Amino acid sequence: MVNLLGLDLDAMVARLDVLQEKRFRAIQLFRWIHRAGETDFSRMTDIARSLREKLQGSYEVRALPVLTEQCSADGTVKWLFDVGDGNAVETVYIPESDRGTLCVSSQAGCAVGCRFCSTGHQGFSRNLSTAEIVAQLWWAEHRLRARLNLGQGERAIDNIVMMGMGEPLQNFAAVVPALRIMLDDHAYGLSRRRVTVSTSGVVPMIDRLGQTCPVALAVSLHAPDDTLRDHLVPLNRKYPLGELMSACSRYLEVAPRDFITFEYCMLDGVNDSDDHARRLVALVRGQSPESGQTVPCKLNLIPFNPFPASGLRRSPKERVLAFARSLQAAGIVTTVRRTRGDDIDAACGQLAGEVLDRTDVGSRLARDVFPIPVVAAR
Ligand code: SAH
Ligand code: SF4
Repeated sequence: MVNLLGLDLDAMVARLDVLQEKRFRAIQLFRWIHRAGETDFSRMTDIARSLREKLQGSYEVRALPVLTEQCSADGTVKWLFDVGDGNAVETVYIPESDRGTLCVSSQAGCAVGCRFCSTGHQGFSRNLSTAEIVAQLWWAEHRLRARLNLGQGERAIDNIVMMGMGEPLQNFAAVVPALRIMLDDHAYGLSRRRVTVSTSGVVPMIDRLGQTCPVALAVSLHAPDDTLRDHLVPLNRKYPLGELMSACSRYLEVAPRDFITFEYCMLDGVNDSDDHARRLVALVRGQSPESGQTVPCKLNLIPFNPFPASGLRRSPKERVLAFARSLQAAGIVTTVRRTRGDDIDAACGQLAGEVLDRTDVGSRLARDVFPIPVVAAR
């Protein structure tokens, strides 16, 4: 069975072409699935019966099984989805006054292994398929529309950040069609400026993203020099800061926004001193030994969300604010991410998802601690 949630419009058109159906039929089908949230071909009333019969048996619209849905007092909602073989991934909805953001996962686990990230500590299980990535949005959008009593044409989610579990640029082939579905006017119709890929710095894939499907880009920096970044983000040994900053400059030539968002997780005594702030300014200004050019950017400071195995501590609030002030004094727009959904463990970097005991699904339900980044910059 082909899961239609995994097909972008071009792929849908190609599939229907094989069934000798015209492009407009593919558009109708695509709209039923993504706009109306319909899974049952027999209820797609304006689609010819002959096509519905051709679809039946070989094609389906298959959502992901929901293991848990948790709602925070602040309106944040977190879903834990079963992706089979003892793996689970998380998706978080964060309502804000002017928008609704969905934080989407791209992999079960992650191979990058950042020191401060609980997904990284879990190791890598597997890539999600396009259908599994889109299913997170499909489910959240239609579930929230019903729950929030939204009218025809209103949407719950107008901002997406690929900041859940996994490194999206290490699952490029599945992520790009998913981005196309998010952007497609016949599906979710999101603006390129409101779909953000967050990466730990997979340099060649930053270039490919720019060539294939430019959307907003967030880069997880966390350190102003290679020695420290090698330690915190092991991928830096392969793609050091100089190459990363050059890739950011190239990306800006095609990006829908005129800045890169740099994320910086604030770790007590590790990367949070005044000297680190000073060197960070030099880095993005192209004045550090490691960087060659100025990269127009915004800095997003994320207070570290601790988990036991990390052995790291969150920087004190005053330190985060002092760090933010020194960046601001140097003219860099800086925000401190507000943690949302604290009461349901929906905060950045506490990713759950992975299944703790592969033999016992129940244990996962009881212990859903995992890292989900929550973007609520002010
Ligand atoms: N792999 C991608 C996207 C997922 S992680 C990336 O690294 O960018 C999304 C964000 O959450 C990243 O900026 C990451 O550094 C941050 N993060 C991870 N663990 C964290 C933690 N324990 N506390 C705070 N932020 C964390
Ligand atoms: Fe992977 Fe991102 Fe976590 Fe690093 S921070 S281990 S890249 S999910």
